[in-house]
Amino acid sequence: MSITVVGSVALDTVETPAGRNEEGLGGAATYFSLAAVHYAPIHLVGVVGEDFPQAHVDLFHHCGVHLEGLERAPGRTFRWTGRYHDDVNERDTLETQLNVFENFHPRLPEAARRSPYLFLGNIHPSLQLEVLEQVNPTFTALDTMNLWIDIAQEDLRKVLARTDAIIINDAEVRLLTGRTNVIRGAREVGALGPRIVVVKKGEHGCLLFADDTIFSAPAFPLENVVDPTGAGDTFAGGFMGYIARQNSLDLATLRRAVIHGSVVASFACEDFGPRPLVTLTPERIAGRFDKFKALVDF
Ligand code: AMP
Repeated sequence: MSITVVGSVALDTVETPAGRNEEGLGGAATYFSLAAVHYAPIHLVGVVGEDFPQAHVDLFHHCGVHLEGLERAPGRTFRWTGRYHDDVNERDTLETQLNVFENFHPRLPEAARRSPYLFLGNIHPSLQLEVLEQVNPTFTALDTMNLWIDIAQEDLRKVLARTDAIIINDAEVRLLTGRTNVIRGAREVGALGPRIVVVKKGEHGCLLFADDTIFSAPAFPLENVVDPTGAGDTFAGGFMGYIARQNSLDLATLRRAVIHGSVVASFACEDFGPRPLVTLTPERIAGRFDKFKALVDF
């Protein structure tokens, strides 16, 4: 079953203790797509500027991501610059240039409208609502960020009321609900609409809340983290990709989907940008999935 993703396609400049990557391919929809395409057909909806390198377009094609919904607009591509601390769990955003993203209004081509699965990447909730007006998917998942919780909460709540799943981090749960206890907070987020709430806790893994059950998964322990940028979007890609491939929302599928999300996110951290996702194979995903199983078996 195919997935449509709407979100940023970017040129990222990233500095980590392992080095620097200047104006590399980035963006939430990029990481999501390049992870999820290992599981299901993907339609990417976003915008880039005239300066977006053809090599990146070719890379999406090479990976099998459908790009009818990627608009090329006059102006410069969205840019994001971040610097990680020695502890790579901490980072500072140095610059965000919206550029062509500033006037972006997602227009979904016919093929993208037909996907039964929809992922609303981290964009202004009013744009997420514009997307929902164009489609009628069977399953919608959502990402958001502290900025939208602060400045656009009313719209965000409207989106939440129409989504089946949200993937959110623990700090955002606190911000949205005022709850410091993540379990109570997740329950309150669920009461706003989504039946499935996935709370990411960075290197501490994540919690899945669904149908009054909780599932806890650690992050895959990595010795060498080169660049964690996009790990959250990659997690979402593996999570939703697996659900779309299985075309099932039963609890066993959701639990395995969390592990698939964690597996692809761990690969994504092993080099700069989304490069590791390009060379992934089903065998390598399955190999790390089995290692994950052994890791938590007792
Ligand atoms: P993450 O590490 O999961 O927070 O994702 C980082 C990715 O999100 C980078 O590739 C950025 O280009 C992209 N990004 C950063 N800020 C924004 C924003 N305000 N809107 C959309 N995408 C963003």
